[in-house]
Amino acid sequence: MKDNISKIRQSAEHIFDSIMGFVYPPQCVICDKLHEGERFFLCDRCAHALDFYTAPHCFKCKNMIDSGGRKCSRCSGSDRISKIWACSAYDDFIRPLIHSFKYAGVIPAGKYLAVKLGQLMADGLDAHDVDTIVPVPLHPMRERKRGFNQSIFISEWLQEELNISVYADALIRIRRTRDQTGLNRQKRRENMLGAFRANSKIDLEDKSVILVDDVTTSGATASEAAKVLKNAGVSEIQLAVLAIAGHDLQE
Ligand SMILES: [Zn+2]
Ligand SMILES: [Zn+2]
Repeated sequence: MKDNISKIRQSAEHIFDSIMGFVYPPQCVICDKLHEGERFFLCDRCAHALDFYTAPHCFKCKNMIDSGGRKCSRCSGSDRISKIWACSAYDDFIRPLIHSFKYAGVIPAGKYLAVKLGQLMADGLDAHDVDTIVPVPLHPMRERKRGFNQSIFISEWLQEELNISVYADALIRIRRTRDQTGLNRQKRRENMLGAFRANSKIDLEDKSVILVDDVTTSGATASEAAKVLKNAGVSEIQLAVLAIAGHDLQE
């Protein structure tokens, strides 16, 4: 199954690399302008305006964790997820890039961000201390509708940057959840309860894991996935996402 997913991703990338930039005029997905930048989906001006993080963040208080620090020095941190690695805040620049990847199938926009994320992690993470990368699974019906699971794609690009293997089916989605948009933190937590189980065929005992999702908002999805991984014996979990959103969510 994993091989199939890799093949689908690689052929999707290939189609884009060989056709899209050449058939379509290069139009920036952020500012909509036609341009002559090296990437057809992103003009050089917007590329410079992307405000990438230089360090990981605390899962609990969302503050930056000092380089080299294992835990947040401002709060007790989270028992489930030690830190979040992200490209940036979910701002007006990164949002259209992520949307073009997830909803319009502009695969190279996702790869561009995942490679940036991988570079940040390669600089600040001791890859020897991490055993595996685990993507957050989509419900099979949602994955069929979209054609791919964006978290698996991001995981595979991170694998290429970090040389850490992906366990694409370590987590299994057992319940379809409603769209989290418009739900407050409490409702999001309730919505995600029981959404996942760990795959009993995969040994997760004492493994240190990078959990991958596209965006974290309230943290409800990652927290529920992390709970299941911890119950399956995982020792440490770091979260990797393209962007961190949700300072505006009501409690
Ligand atoms: Zn632009
Ligand atoms: Zn903190």
